[in-house]
Amino acid sequence: MDRTHLARFTDINEGFVCEHCGRQVPPSKSSCRNHCPYCLYSKHVDNNPGDRSSSCGGLMRPVGYELSGKKGIVLIFKCEKCGVEKKNISAYEDPIASDDYDLILSLTPRE
Ligand SMILES: [Zn+2]
Ligand SMILES: [Zn+2]
Repeated sequence: MDRTHLARFTDINEGFVCEHCGRQVPPSKSSCRNHCPYCLYSKHVDNNPGDRSSSCGGLMRPVGYELSGKKGIVLIFKCEKCGVEKKNISAYEDPIASDDYDLILSLTPRE
């Protein structure tokens, strides 16, 4: 049995099925993706990025974006259940499944 392969497999960030558009989202190369590259919806599961400590579970609608010199495009989401706003760095340069660039540009830019 190839144990190297197994060990690597468990390390891979898991993909997920988008609850808004139903498409399978492949794991991102950067580990910070928490939104769908096709419709840009996210899910409210974190209080702080990646901690999975929120019990809300609402869908988070993309409402805008801002440009950050260091991080590139930062998407702004609003939870449809509790109304909280959150930001996540866009994975628009992800080689496996990049965020829909046209869709990002259709959102409202913020200062
Ligand atoms: Zn989606
Ligand atoms: Zn919420």
